[in-house]
Amino acid sequence: MKTKVKNKCPKCGKKLTAAFDITDLEAKPSKGDFSICIDCESFLVFDKKLKLRIADLKSISNEMMNEMVKNRFLLRKFKEEYRKYN
Ligand SMILES: [Zn+2]
Repeated sequence: MKTKVKNKCPKCGKKLTAAFDITDLEAKPSKGDFSICIDCESFLVFDKKLKLRIADLKSISNEMMNEMVKNRFLLRKFKEEYRKYN
């Protein structure tokens, strides 16, 4: 499920209007969930008001970091495919 959000990337300022989980399409963002900016690919985290902050990578487990790097790779592939057809 794509969830509408009103956010701005704290790193690049890109206006972000939606979020989705590529592994669980029914998921909605909640406090502490990680995200990746579709524009600059920064690792972000949702705060208690579901505003995006730059993720503190020092507090992330190796397993979570591997998952985030994998998801950023998938995002890059998605963007490459999108550019081919648009
Ligand atoms: Zn960004």
